[in-house]
Amino acid sequence: MELQLLTNNVYYFLASVNIGYVRFSESEGMLIDAGLEDQTMKKVLKMLDEKGLPLTHLFITHAHADHYGGAAYLQKNRQVYTMAPSFESLILQEPMLEPLYLFHGTNPISEWRNKFLEGKPIHVDLLVKEEGAVELGGVVFLTVALPGHSYQQFGILVSEILFAADAYFGKDIIHKHGIPYIVDAKEALETLEKIKKLPCRGAVPGHGRFETGFMETIDENIKVHHQIEAMIYSLITAETAGIAFEQLVTKACTEKGITVKSVPSYMLFRTAVTAYLTKLIQEQKAYFQIRNNQLVVESSFE
Ligand SMILES: [Zn+2]
Repeated sequence: MELQLLTNNVYYFLASVNIGYVRFSESEGMLIDAGLEDQTMKKVLKMLDEKGLPLTHLFITHAHADHYGGAAYLQKNRQVYTMAPSFESLILQEPMLEPLYLFHGTNPISEWRNKFLEGKPIHVDLLVKEEGAVELGGVVFLTVALPGHSYQQFGILVSEILFAADAYFGKDIIHKHGIPYIVDAKEALETLEKIKKLPCRGAVPGHGRFETGFMETIDENIKVHHQIEAMIYSLITAETAGIAFEQLVTKACTEKGITVKSVPSYMLFRTAVTAYLTKLIQEQKAYFQIRNNQLVVESSFE
């Protein structure tokens, strides 16, 4: 983990999951996300203390454990005013909701409740419901709605730097994932187009590096989403009698060279494939059907 200075008051901790930091004044500062676990937060606090950087606020962009897992340790050891999108906050307060939704509402068995899917619960002081400007110590930051990767993800725009959370991934990372995790393909694409128009001169993704010329990375993310959508559509149209949904998930993963290694990981890919599928269904290019007690996806064109 490495602390990098972006402007005179904006920093980020470069790691496998990036954490942002904004210094508002001599006595106030905010972390953007909290990393995966206690150990991550211990390192962050040590580095802030060494540099004499104050910490009074925490903003959680979305309720994925790799972004909030370190927050419980922070709240136990420091006094921080915590802000998070209102819908995501429900999961931050009851983290079992994530394995619960990934497993279709079934009470998840212990193997499915790992630290990547479920962090420790935290309390949220301010529920962010909409975009807006917040002023602290003379610094103004904007909350920016970036849905698509999670239901109600928000980013932060401060001093012309966008903390984009998982709205996009670094180029290497999106290709490594094969199929990126999303919950809504239409929103994920709209969010990427929105980012291109934001008044910023640099951006930090949740996974990847800070870039000033990040438009190319955004375009690469858009291209990847379009390619996966087209690939899924061609898998559906290739089967005139339709394709069993689970088979579609398998074929999509195989097509992208993915070897799924665990049951929870399968569920994440299953959700992402469904998120591309719902876009095709909304566009009336495909539809779900039940045939012989099986969930089947059919193309709308015969
Ligand atoms: Zn995420």
